[in-house]
Amino acid sequence: MKVTRRVIALLVLGLLATGALFAAAQSETQFVTIGTGGVTGVYYPTGGAISRMINAQSETYGIRATVESTGGSVFNINAVLNGDLEFGVAQSDRQYQAYNGLAEWEELGPQEDLRAVFSIHPESITLVASVDSGIESVADLAGKRVNIGNPGSGQLQNSRDVLAAFGISESEITAEQVRAVEAPGLLQDGRIDAFFYTVGHPNGNITEATSGRIQVRVVPIEGAEVDALLDEFSYYASSIVPVSNYPSAANTQPNVPSVGVKATFVTSASVSEDVVYAITKEVFENFDAFKALHPAYQVIELEDMLTGMSAPLHPGAIRYYEEAGLIDLINPALLGE
Ligand code: GLU
Repeated sequence: MKVTRRVIALLVLGLLATGALFAAAQSETQFVTIGTGGVTGVYYPTGGAISRMINAQSETYGIRATVESTGGSVFNINAVLNGDLEFGVAQSDRQYQAYNGLAEWEELGPQEDLRAVFSIHPESITLVASVDSGIESVADLAGKRVNIGNPGSGQLQNSRDVLAAFGISESEITAEQVRAVEAPGLLQDGRIDAFFYTVGHPNGNITEATSGRIQVRVVPIEGAEVDALLDEFSYYASSIVPVSNYPSAANTQPNVPSVGVKATFVTSASVSEDVVYAITKEVFENFDAFKALHPAYQVIELEDMLTGMSAPLHPGAIRYYEEAGLIDLINPALLGE
């Protein structure tokens, strides 16, 4: 009898201990979500690549990362700022605008809690049109049905800037605002003539757009109008769309001139230093493995990941860059006091 009681007591103690351990493990594991973009873009696999890297080290850091497909840069920045997401991928121009209270943030004012972590791949404002539409330059968009990007996307403002640079008002086109993931289907169905998508190359979206029955081309964004645009906005740079990645496109040249920005990784000042440190460290220490995860990263050099940011760096990222001897490569104005 006594023995039985002791066994039960031990069992109960054991159960309690297991429960306590389980609870401890639960409270130690930090769950973070990364906001990305449409599943055929580059942000979505980028979030996947980063989350796999951090999850592979979950025993070390106690972090579990998941990825969410979203409407894009502006959605991600807002979701990070209001605490719905811990991290987001966002265009460098959108990071600048949010931190400085411009474009979608004009009424709200500067988003001072936004923090930069690192930059990722280059993106180009990509204008895709059906050959039948006769659109061979931005000027030809007047009178056409054009997807300029969903609210929440990075490309919405880019399309507006490009149209404005060419003196085309939104009322002169039939402007659609659907998500990039739907645009190739609409183009192939003949329901739109063209769409804008600010994205890294190659990607599944432009492959899909150029692979259907309807012949499609990537339209150059160039000329004196574009030079003026580059002069006006320091976050835009000239770029190319490597259209040779899309063998079914109607283009005959391997590269099409355009305007570029960078994809960047952002967070909020309220996300813990340890979490940001761990993610930064894993991405940088596995840079070669990271680069191999998507063909759009092929052109990235490690130093490129430290330029193109405009919000202050998160202290967790600064801790890693100091430790790794990379801090001198970063604009000192972003390092705080
Ligand atoms: N640049 C796009 C945006 O900010 C997303 C591109 C992508 O998903 O690769 O909305």
